[in-house]
Amino acid sequence: MTPIQPLRWCVLLLLILSHGVPCAAMDAGTPEIAVLGGVTGTPDADAVLRGDYATRFAPVARGLLRAPDDRSAWYRVRLPVDWSADTPPVLAISGDVRARVVAYLPPAYAAQPVSPYAADLDPRFSRHAVVLELPRDLRADQPVYLELGAPGQTQPMRVRVADYSSYQIGDLRHVRLSVFFASVQVAMLLVILCFWLVLRDRVFLYFIGYVTAQIVYEMAASGELHALPGAAVLAPLGFHPGQFAAVVSAALSISFILEFAELARHVPRLARVLSAMRWPYLGFAVALWIAPLQPDRWLPNAVNAMLVLSTCTALVAGWRAWRDGSRQAGFFLISWLPLLCLTMLRVAQLLVGLPLPAWLEYGFPASMAYAAVVITVGLADRTLQARRERDLAHRLAEFDPLTGALNRRAILTRLHVAYADARQARHPLAVLFLDLDHFKLVNDGHGHATGDRVLAAVAATMQGELRELDWLGRYGGEEFLVVLPDAAEPVARAIAERIRAGVAGLEIEQAGAPLRATVSVGVAMLDETTPSAEALVEHADSALYDAKARGRNRVV
Ligand code: GH3
Ligand code: MG
Ligand code: MG
Repeated sequence: MTPIQPLRWCVLLLLILSHGVPCAAMDAGTPEIAVLGGVTGTPDADAVLRGDYATRFAPVARGLLRAPDDRSAWYRVRLPVDWSADTPPVLAISGDVRARVVAYLPPAYAAQPVSPYAADLDPRFSRHAVVLELPRDLRADQPVYLELGAPGQTQPMRVRVADYSSYQIGDLRHVRLSVFFASVQVAMLLVILCFWLVLRDRVFLYFIGYVTAQIVYEMAASGELHALPGAAVLAPLGFHPGQFAAVVSAALSISFILEFAELARHVPRLARVLSAMRWPYLGFAVALWIAPLQPDRWLPNAVNAMLVLSTCTALVAGWRAWRDGSRQAGFFLISWLPLLCLTMLRVAQLLVGLPLPAWLEYGFPASMAYAAVVITVGLADRTLQARRERDLAHRLAEFDPLTGALNRRAILTRLHVAYADARQARHPLAVLFLDLDHFKLVNDGHGHATGDRVLAAVAATMQGELRELDWLGRYGGEEFLVVLPDAAEPVARAIAERIRAGVAGLEIEQAGAPLRATVSVGVAMLDETTPSAEALVEHADSALYDAKARGRNRVV
């Protein structure tokens, strides 16, 4: 099975499931969003709310709010006409909210701090956005004011007004989709956890580590982390837990790739570089919590730059390891390529400060789910490879490389098992002892290499005359032992005769006339008086001796 086959189905499934997923709720009449400008110093909140600065508000495009400085930025959200829908209007604030946000809602215009990390958000909505319900009779002349303060908001925040029921329809779709992608990842996590419990391979632990951190990051990004029971303790930490999970996931995923694709073996220099790239991530994971370092100012961009650097390095290393024959590197490339492309796009989007489009928002968890599935297939494949290698080692330890027959130890083991079975079940058992006739002459006349070819050809012929349950073993130089379980004397005799005739009829190609060989066969049957498996072999050996004495190429 090539790794491609299951992948096609995964991709198809993800495409079907993510098809037709609208991400934004229907907006009921686009509100006018405007930003306050041209005020020196910090504007007085009361003056803004009284409408003193009404003429200084200028419209902003696409409902995108920013506050790059520490200074407060004031936004006004106003309906074009009075609200008339059946359900009340809701104000939805979404995006990577980092700034302190205070909302002033009509009719009271009391200051209401807004944080997506708060534990007590309105439980009627998912955490895809912070949703504030507005009065059902909201008029066009009753604007909502939003004040964005320190530490600033470099990434755009989006503000929309929608009617309650259409917002909930969109919100439910969002929840379904997010839960599906998270479930796929959790399912893969559990599969690999089971693998690890049984196989104890370190590579499984790295997978479990980075996927867990990834899930935590996604849940933090979607806000759902902060809705978990007990997550109130995380609220004061803001977006830091999510950022922490992201950098830990990045470091662990490097460990995983190094081990999984065996990069150190295939591309040692790149593997060392990639391995060293884990340190900056660990540094970020620590710096995140040290307030005097002012991590909020520089860390997000540093992490993004590092992500670009390490993902590119991982891609190149994976590509070269794959070219060098690492099958797992191929799995890595196939699984991570969509994720890496999306990471690049996401980083570009963040650096440029564009809003997050829906395909990118959902493409991320989708590609993570996809990668988890493919990597799980890759891990299963790796386990299969290991089993094949073990089986091969097993075979090599049991079989004679020249003739493909069992080696002496293996055939004797089979004989002992067959002997015990036959004794217990009172079934017949026969043993053949075979020795090539005048084989020294073949070696002397045609050389050792030709002798080897004859040996291999004779063994193949012998094997061809046996039944499914019989065993052929090379006992010594050109001596073979055949164990015939369940074979009564006539059957054993017939098989021995078939072998003898088969070998006698064999023509081994060589320069000049083809070579011929014959074999003498001694047959021994198990009976009540046979004391051991060894005795059975001795009986067969003495029968062979008789066969040789009586002129060779015969069965005794
Ligand atoms: P006999 O009919 O009495 O069995 O005569 P023989 O020449 O076959 O005598 P014997 O069985 O004693 O000789 C075994 C010879 O088989 C000795 C050795 O040169 C040869 N031989 C043993 N192992 C190998 C091998 O792996 N390859 C080759 N080419 N020859 C082998
Ligand atoms: Mg011999
Ligand atoms: Mg011989």
